[in-house]
Amino acid sequence: MARISWNQYFMAQSHLLALRSTCTRLAVGATIVRDKRIIAGGYNGSIAGGVHCIDEGCYVIDNHCVRTIHAEVNALLQCAKFGVPTEGAEIYVTHFPCLHCCKSLIQAGIKVVYYAQDYKNHPYAEELFKQANVRTEKVVMAEDAVDPDFSAKRELFDELLIKLEATGTTKEELLNYSEKIDKLFERKV
Ligand SMILES: [Zn+2]
Ligand SMILES: [Zn+2]
Repeated sequence: MARISWNQYFMAQSHLLALRSTCTRLAVGATIVRDKRIIAGGYNGSIAGGVHCIDEGCYVIDNHCVRTIHAEVNALLQCAKFGVPTEGAEIYVTHFPCLHCCKSLIQAGIKVVYYAQDYKNHPYAEELFKQANVRTEKVVMAEDAVDPDFSAKRELFDELLIKLEATGTTKEELLNYSEKIDKLFERKV
């Protein structure tokens, strides 16, 4: 079994955190790393003890949900709350940071931003990162990084489809199955 890389490992952590998101509009996860150690993590959600978008619906103003604190800021605030320095740290985020988070990350001394997915990348955010010498790098999750059997499973499904076709399954049924399989294996990020 191949050993998972640091980038894949930390990004996987952010994807896991995104599953904790309480906003229905977008699920984002962020992991702050220093010297190859995770020092904080966050996801986009309400303030502690507040109502959740998943329960009450989003509170949208000007097309933005104002209820949630973004994942990056939540991770930074976790460091603030417990007195953990972020100077020179790196962050792994599932989505390219918004303008507000970009400024917060720069101001907190984050030096590298790894992101899995472009997301309305603001040209001003890109410019600010450059000015501040903050490196941004896209890290795409390899399909087999968290599931070493990914390819074998896909192949097995394809084999079964061929077998089904040979047993006289109708075209519609086959199409139905193959669509379901594609959906199951589609890249989520
Ligand atoms: Zn929301
Ligand atoms: Zn943000």
